[in-house]
Amino acid sequence: MATLTAMEAGVVVIGAGHAACQFAASLRQLGWNGALTLVSAEPHLPYQRPPLSKACLQGGVAQSDILLRPAAFYESIACRLLAGRAVVAIDTRRKLVRLDGGSELPYAQLVLATGAAARTWPRLPAGESVHVLRTWDDAQALGAALGRIRRLAVLGAGYIGLEVAAAARKRGVAVDVFEAAPRVLQRSVGMATSAHVENLHRAQGVALHLGTAITSVRAEDHAIALETSHGLFTADALVIGIGAQPRVELAREAGLQCGHAIRVDAQCRTSADEVFAIGDCTEQVLHPGAEPVRLESVQNATDQAKCVAAVIAGRPVPPMPVPWFWSDQFDHRIQVAGRAGAGDATVLRPQPGKPQAHAAWYLREGRVTAVEAVDAPEDFMAARQLIKTGQRVDMARLADPEVALRCLAAPAA
Ligand SMILES: Cc1cc2nc3c(=O)[nH]c(=O)nc-3n(C[C@H](O)[C@H](O)[C@H](O)COP(=O)(O)OP(=O)(O)OC[C@H]3O[C@@H](n4cnc5c(N)ncnc54)[C@H](O)[C@@H]3O)c2cc1C
Repeated sequence: MATLTAMEAGVVVIGAGHAACQFAASLRQLGWNGALTLVSAEPHLPYQRPPLSKACLQGGVAQSDILLRPAAFYESIACRLLAGRAVVAIDTRRKLVRLDGGSELPYAQLVLATGAAARTWPRLPAGESVHVLRTWDDAQALGAALGRIRRLAVLGAGYIGLEVAAAARKRGVAVDVFEAAPRVLQRSVGMATSAHVENLHRAQGVALHLGTAITSVRAEDHAIALETSHGLFTADALVIGIGAQPRVELAREAGLQCGHAIRVDAQCRTSADEVFAIGDCTEQVLHPGAEPVRLESVQNATDQAKCVAAVIAGRPVPPMPVPWFWSDQFDHRIQVAGRAGAGDATVLRPQPGKPQAHAAWYLREGRVTAVEAVDAPEDFMAARQLIKTGQRVDMARLADPEVALRCLAAPAA
């Protein structure tokens, strides 16, 4: 067989979620015109995941409402989308991937954008009353269940668990959330923000069982029985919301370096030549010797995608942006930017006249490292900018709501 040129072999992307679709769009925007193929294990056109735990659980949302790009987009950028096909193996020596069914696709560059799977809980009974939430099909099943049940149990008070709890309450379903940690969102926000979010949920009638471990789950005739460290509870259905497991199997089998996720450098290169990884399947080492960072967010998927598109197109790589994330719960918007470190000072900036709003700012040596804002978009935007510029901030002025956000700069030393 004649050897293919790099442009003919082109770029193959495994996955067609947020990261993959952004990558395809950015690569073409940057003028790269070789062959481009996205291989997607899901049978649907690529869609957004955030609405799955929000609007989609209220009913009335069609799949076409949440597409990442219109159907015509892929053809318009000469991108081949193989939907409903899975990559089952990668051969980095011969530079090809094998698809289910046995056919092979050569690549010049390979991008893994395999995302993550919902983590499940060991010893779960099988059955229709137990749900996870990662895909359109999962959301369809859970949304339908919310229309017929009266009581829902949620395992985990992270973002997905709390968004599901809020969606279920909005539909009039009684909700018990079980969380082994002593506070909600423990892995992602500080104590004050946890307490604020906890109060918002309790005010809407969510029963939060914090510091409560589930020890066993039994399914009994459309009912669920939960043994917990604080007694027995029953519900009509259970949602497991205990995080996501990066999909690393293909990468591991191909010999790529992996930790908890696929290990990549600051430009999303894996340990194999011409193989990149982006999005939820990655852990990124930003500087040699640094701890790997794992971010599961649309922003991270988007920015890593843009980075790899620039590398492959031979264009300047955009600077690393400040990481950020949002979550919608009831009618509240939570926005988090930056990374707070151990020992950072916390300033709770008062929100006069907005009792349900909250803004926790984190500072190290007078510079803002992170912000957690609830219904406080101005604080979020201002802090994000200050994290980016590294400008020093006067803590007393920050804590004074009379001082405008644009006037926080510390006087020159
Ligand atoms: C319910 C829910 C709500 C969320 N809400 C928010 C939010 O409010 N804000 C926010 O910032 N983030 C949110 N996120 C996280 C965000 O959606 C993810 O960070 C983002 O989807 C990551 O994109 P990705 O492309 O890396 O992975 P994914 O979107 O998971 O896409 C990966 C795709 O790869 C496919 N794939 C895997 N293996 C193979 C294979 N071998 N062959 C072919 N295809 C394969 C998978 O089937 C999947 O379709 C939410 C996630 C979920 C599940």
